[in-house]
Amino acid sequence: MKIFVFSTKPYDKDYFRQENSAFNHDLTFIKTHLNDQTLPLVEGADAVCVFVNDTLDRPVIEHLAGAGVKHIALRCAGFNNVDMEAAREFGINVVNVPAYSPYSVAEHTVGMILSLNRKLHKAYARVREGNFSLDGLMGFDLHNKTAGIVGMGRIGQVTANILTGFGCKVLAYDPFPFQPGHDSIVPSDLDTLFRDSDIISLHCPLTPQTRHMINEQAISTMKDTVMIINTSRGGLIDTRAVINGLKNNKIGWLGLDVYEDESDMFFENLSQSIIQDDVFSRLLTFPNVLITGHQAFFTKEAMTSIARTTLQNLETLEKGDSCQNLLNEKR
Ligand code: NAD
Repeated sequence: MKIFVFSTKPYDKDYFRQENSAFNHDLTFIKTHLNDQTLPLVEGADAVCVFVNDTLDRPVIEHLAGAGVKHIALRCAGFNNVDMEAAREFGINVVNVPAYSPYSVAEHTVGMILSLNRKLHKAYARVREGNFSLDGLMGFDLHNKTAGIVGMGRIGQVTANILTGFGCKVLAYDPFPFQPGHDSIVPSDLDTLFRDSDIISLHCPLTPQTRHMINEQAISTMKDTVMIINTSRGGLIDTRAVINGLKNNKIGWLGLDVYEDESDMFFENLSQSIIQDDVFSRLLTFPNVLITGHQAFFTKEAMTSIARTTLQNLETLEKGDSCQNLLNEKR
């Protein structure tokens, strides 16, 4: 199959080439995002392979259909950037990689909690400058603290389990039934979770229902100096609301691996550019905010699994077999 891989980075090439030895697809790597500006590049493709910041809205999907593209292969779990109605209407298959390594994201989440709490990123810089003062580095024990997990899917469950290892009590919210799997993981409604958690970590998908679930109202119900972590999707948080929460000390720590307007910045080296996003720039000014650039998934195990599953998905579709990762029939 002729697969055009958009938003390609060198590490994508490495892992896709390595895994493609078992499939022999015809891969073309394209650095740019797929969006309405780059549509001429899809000519000749049977499938486009896309990532989190490619734009698969209705006009793009209509163009893909006209150009003979039959499949959209997401090399990620989330599919909030694809207009699924349009894909169904134009008969384009959409496949994703629902699970690759929940450990990658869960471990990064816990890494952010530890870094923010014990200020490891600040300590690293201080010691390198010969500053061994402990002023301002005070943290707290995770032991006996309450962590709220919003979304008890694959990643939420692994995160909850890791946190029980620290001696945390975990309040877990999911609108669908789930197995807590540990005595210290207690199912909760969302209001109680927001009210009683010292740390709140988001692990649900971005949907119209979950967009801006962390907003002024929700923040007002949380504990003073709550820690909020988002390694899920940026749109879950109303960024202006968390900035207000940080300014009035309601939010004590904020850890973000995702940002609602990340698409023009993340995954690029912009160190010689002027960042135009003033909201993002304001976030960077807070001493108690730690931001990483959508790297939670980025482990060797996850990259291997992502490449293999993506290529397998397309081989299954090419053969006309039923593909368990086909999203078209799922709601
Ligand atoms: P999953 O589908 O296994 O779990 C998502 C859970 O959220 C499900 O249990 C679902 O029932 C629940 N949910 C749905 N609506 C909800 C709501 N309104 N409130 C609370 N929970 C709700 O997905 P996953 O593999 O655990 O991934 C979770 C999210 O993490 C993905 O949606 C994706 O956006 C994000 N993610 C981020 C990275 C990264 O690198 N930062 C990597 C992979 C996934």
